[in-house]
Amino acid sequence: MKAAVYDGNKITIKNVLDPEIKESQALIRVKTVGICGTDLAIANGHLPTPTPIILGHEFAGDVVKVGAKISHSWLNKRVTSEINSNIDFNCYYCKKGLYTQCVSRKAIGIDINGALAEYIALDSYLLHEIPDTIPYDEATFIEPLAAAYQTFEMMPIDKDDKNIALFGLGKLGLLITQIVISKGLTLIAIDGSDKKLNLAKQFGAHHLINRVTCKDVSDEIINLTNNLGADIVIDTTGNPNALREIVASCRTRGKIHVKSTHGLETPINLTDIVVRELTLYSSRCGPFEKAIDGLKSGNIQVRQLISKKFKLDEITEAFNSYKMSNDHIKTIVQI
Ligand SMILES: [Zn+2]
Repeated sequence: MKAAVYDGNKITIKNVLDPEIKESQALIRVKTVGICGTDLAIANGHLPTPTPIILGHEFAGDVVKVGAKISHSWLNKRVTSEINSNIDFNCYYCKKGLYTQCVSRKAIGIDINGALAEYIALDSYLLHEIPDTIPYDEATFIEPLAAAYQTFEMMPIDKDDKNIALFGLGKLGLLITQIVISKGLTLIAIDGSDKKLNLAKQFGAHHLINRVTCKDVSDEIINLTNNLGADIVIDTTGNPNALREIVASCRTRGKIHVKSTHGLETPINLTDIVVRELTLYSSRCGPFEKAIDGLKSGNIQVRQLISKKFKLDEITEAFNSYKMSNDHIKTIVQI
């Protein structure tokens, strides 16, 4: 089969052996894959992985073959998959139901081969059926939308939390935007792209700050929040330099939520966090059922977030598409 293989230096299309399925696995014909900030971080050398590796973990496809130990009802189903594979169902975290933190987990497309290929073999416990009303390209948003929901699974919204400042309006930021608005909170959205800021406005953001034209982003947030600072500040930029601004934008006793780091070391002013008693939250993989419901119900819209589509043979162009414009949100690879 054809696959996009990263060799530690570059990504190229190679002919590799079709995956063999084990008794507990399904073989999936991949239809669409979303390129994610994590994929870019690996390709840029910021996030180490074993090599050679097939990247790609946001995907949708059809089950075309099933192993002896799994139900035949999976055959021909449209599916997507959890990212954390090789779960032992036996460790401290698994016993608490926290499978995404299993000590033996391997992330698809990061630790083990992923979905930027014609086929992928996966254990059936990872699979989620995609409702007929969600097209394959939109289904690539299920994994990142689950991660967006996880923000609020990990961080409680208390009665004093009325406003949220959200740094970064890429895919994750614009998904979180829609969740924040659905919770009835006031949203201050920050990005350098007017196009992304306008999308956030369409989704209901109350205040927009263009970080390119704004003299001091933290001052502006403090001005918008009765000179207090935002109750909650969420970072989806993965930019280490943004953290100083994020801490300065948060009110005393407020919450900071870090969604992206892209593998980079991040300098942070701990003194300010300690003195003003800020709480630091983080989160990653989340509930797929909630994400599927969000798309199925129409509560979350993703069609507007698809910027470009490429074929698998155009993988270099697909990765480069993120460098072309600040307005770029999401690249989909069709396989
Ligand atoms: Zn485990």
